[in-house]
Amino acid sequence: EISISSKTLIGIALSNLPYTEPEDFLQAADTALQIARQKKGQAVTVFDIDMQTTATARLNLEIELQEAIETHKLLLQYQPIFHLDTRTIVSFEALVRWKHPTKGIISPNDFIPLAEETGLIVPLGEWVIAAACHQLKHWQTQFGENSPAYITINLSNLQLQNPLLLACIDRHLNTLELDGQALRFEITESVLMENSEMVTELMAQLDKRKIRLLIDDFGTGYSSLAYLQMLPISGLKIDRTFISDIDTNSKNLDITTIILILAEQLELEVVAEGIEKEEHIDILRSLSCQYGQGNVLSRPLSTMDATDLIASQSMSLTD
Ligand code: C2E
Ligand code: CA
Ligand code: CA
Repeated sequence: EISISSKTLIGIALSNLPYTEPEDFLQAADTALQIARQKKGQAVTVFDIDMQTTATARLNLEIELQEAIETHKLLLQYQPIFHLDTRTIVSFEALVRWKHPTKGIISPNDFIPLAEETGLIVPLGEWVIAAACHQLKHWQTQFGENSPAYITINLSNLQLQNPLLLACIDRHLNTLELDGQALRFEITESVLMENSEMVTELMAQLDKRKIRLLIDDFGTGYSSLAYLQMLPISGLKIDRTFISDIDTNSKNLDITTIILILAEQLELEVVAEGIEKEEHIDILRSLSCQYGQGNVLSRPLSTMDATDLIASQSMSLTD
C-alpha cells in the first residue's frame, strides 16, 4: 500500500508494450501522465495503446486551435437575453465558434475544455473580449439608445487568474470609449470556491469599473452561499438543467423558486437560461424572474441576424 499526496500524479508504462526503445516507454508513461492530469481525481494512470491515438488526436487539435486563434478562424454568435415582461432585448451573450476548414463549425463544447487545459483559453478569451467589445460599439453607433446597453462574455477560471486580463479589458474599453457598464462577465462558481486572493482583487477592480459579474450555471456547483454576500457579484444565471423541464419537473420548479427568493433577498439580478417553451416563460414570470434566454426566445444568432433583430426591435419601439 502506498499513499499519495493529493497533488501527485503518476503515469505508468508497463514492460509488455510492443516497444524496443527506452524513449518510447518514457513517451508512453508521459502520455499516461497527461491523461492523469485531464482526469481529475485519478492520480495513477496506466498507459494503453488507445491513449496514444487519443493523445495524438488531441495534439493535432491543439495545434489547429492555436493556428485558428492566430489566423482569426473563430467567430462569435450572439444569443439575446430578454426582459421577460416586456420581451425587449437587454443584452447579448457572446458565444464562440470555430470555423474549421474541413470539419465545419465546431461547437465550443468541443474545444473550450481543450483550450482550458492547454492555456490557449487566454489568447482565445482575449480575442472574444476584443470582438465582443467591437460589436457592441458598432451597435451603439448604429442604434444609439436602441442598442443593447451591455454585452455578456464568458470568462474561464484560467483567464481570471491571468494578471494581464485587467489590462486587456481596460485597453478595449479605452480605445472604444466604452464604459465599464458596457460589459458583463459570466464566471462559474468554481472560481469562487478556490477563493484566491488574486481573483478577489480582480473582482474588486472590475467592480470599481462598474463591470458586472454574473455566476453562470448557478445551482450546479457545490459552493457556500456566503460568497454571494462577500464578493461583488451582481447576479445569477440559473442553469438550464433546472429551467428546461420546469413545466414537468416539480423538483426543478422548487429549486428555481428558492434561487429566485435567495436572489431577491440578496438583491441579485437573475437570468434564467435554457428557456425552451412558452410555458417556461409564463412560469418564470409568475415567479418574478426578470430576465431570460433560450431557444424559444431566440437561438444564438450570426452578427447579421442579431443586428436585424435589434433593428426590428427599435422599429417597433419607435412605432
Ligand atoms: P453557457 O455559458 O451555459 O452558454 C449557453 C449555452 O446554452 C450555449 O451553447 C447556447 O447555445 C445554449 N442554449 C441556449 N439556449 C438554449 C436552450 O433553450 N436549450 C438548450 N439546451 N441550450 C441552449 P454553446 O454556444 O454551445 O456554448 C456552450 C458553452 O461553451 C457555454 O455554455 C460556455 O460555457 C462555453 N463558451 C462559449 N463561448 C465561450 C467563450 O467565449 N469563452 C468561454 N470561456 N467559454 C465559452
Ligand atoms: Ca454563459
Ligand atoms: Ca450557463
